[in-house]
Amino acid sequence: MDKPVNPSGPTAAMTAPRYREIPTFMRAPLADGPAGVDIALIGVPFDGGVTNRPGARHGPREIRNLSSLMRAIHHATRINPYALCQVADLGDVPLPRVFDLEGSLADIAEFYRGVHAAGAIPLSVGGDHSITYPIYQAIAAERPVGMVHVDAHTDTWDEFLGSKFTHGAPFRRAVEAGLLDPKRTIQIGIRGAQNSEEGWTFSLETGMRVVFMEEFTALGVEAVIAEARRVVGSGPTYVSFDVDGLDPVYAPGTGTPEVGGLTTVEAQTLLRGLRGLDLVGGDVVEVAPPFDPSGNTALVGATMMYEILCLLAEAVARRRQS
Ligand code: MN
Ligand code: MN
Repeated sequence: MDKPVNPSGPTAAMTAPRYREIPTFMRAPLADGPAGVDIALIGVPFDGGVTNRPGARHGPREIRNLSSLMRAIHHATRINPYALCQVADLGDVPLPRVFDLEGSLADIAEFYRGVHAAGAIPLSVGGDHSITYPIYQAIAAERPVGMVHVDAHTDTWDEFLGSKFTHGAPFRRAVEAGLLDPKRTIQIGIRGAQNSEEGWTFSLETGMRVVFMEEFTALGVEAVIAEARRVVGSGPTYVSFDVDGLDPVYAPGTGTPEVGGLTTVEAQTLLRGLRGLDLVGGDVVEVAPPFDPSGNTALVGATMMYEILCLLAEAVARRRQS
């Protein structure tokens, strides 16, 4: 297969100003379906699973806007994802019954089944973290998928105020459904007081590697990268990045901030350390623009999305060659 070349995307900034036109993720072309797309950038403007402060439903729109600041060639790795594969913005997942939590999650799963069946791998923007369970229902239907998970919270809690599908529960549901392999899962940046230990206990007892923030600081980012690579190994792996894994100094615009988190530099270094893994998708979730008047959290979200895009593009190119 000839090397794909995207006629648009960030390199179009060489011929037209970047602030022009209706924003798409990374200025990628807007596609009306996944056919011919290697990496599908998808918005999931849904926060019906939040347990406290809503607002992440506005994440895709603001991250699309701030992602116009992203360019093509990574300064450290020299990866140009647009030279490696076809990247397109598929728009937002339709949400015809947004007041129905479980119905909306079913609608999200249905959308991602179409993306997965077409052979595109998804890079999504939430939305709250409840959206990752229906994404797993689509991408992990054939076999369990491991995960590198950056977050202040393990998101393995069970029922909360009558629902098992809040943003605190997606990875418990995914393990129970046989979609997420807990022994190939590492959770990084965990911190913050809880009212019960149930979620932490579930993660540890099912065999997830839980790196609490204190251990992250003691080990340092390079040792955590080595640990992540050891845990997920060579099997299919997803990257889920909850922006509240970062310290609220860097990412205040989120519903459930926890002080004492990762720096943006640590997070970028961590993500770059995942090069070469068999990555099959990723997401950036919990950017809540109502708490983000400067737009900086959306910029941070767009930047982490670009880091993950570079990783996914290399994985796509490597699988194409093998
Ligand atoms: Mn989360
Ligand atoms: Mn979180």
